[in-house]
Amino acid sequence: MDFDLVLAGGTVVDGTGRDGFPASVALRDGRIAAVGDLAGAQAARTIDCTGKVVAPGFIDMHSHSDWVLPQPDHADVLAPLLEQKITTIVAGNCGCSPAPYVGENRRLLPSAAGSTPRTPGATSRSGCSRTPTGRRAT
Ligand SMILES: [Zn+2]
Repeated sequence: MDFDLVLAGGTVVDGTGRDGFPASVALRDGRIAAVGDLAGAQAARTIDCTGKVVAPGFIDMHSHSDWVLPQPDHADVLAPLLEQKITTIVAGNCGCSPAPYVGENRRLLPSAAGSTPRTPGATSRSGCSRTPTGRRAT
């Protein structure tokens, strides 16, 4: 037996920032042992991940943690998310987000983030009432 578990045929989002790609992920002794085309691999258990995303952690679909990223101490503030095995956040699903925090948005953010949430998972009513461009969220 090559592996304990193979997550077969999913779209791997590996956290490096590159686009998701089709691959299988094999685990042995609780660790990732191989990623790629594992069509011939022998595993104690195989899970068909066709049509699913395979990512190295939980995906928080709604946290507003993106508002913390411009803060200088964001690594400390967001550390509890990693302790909970959250490796990916989805931002902007309420119609507002400081992202992308580059260029013109850097100048506009302070006026939009009057009460930036300091706790991951907290929702800022005033922070969500406007976008970094000053438009009201719809
Ligand atoms: Zn929200």
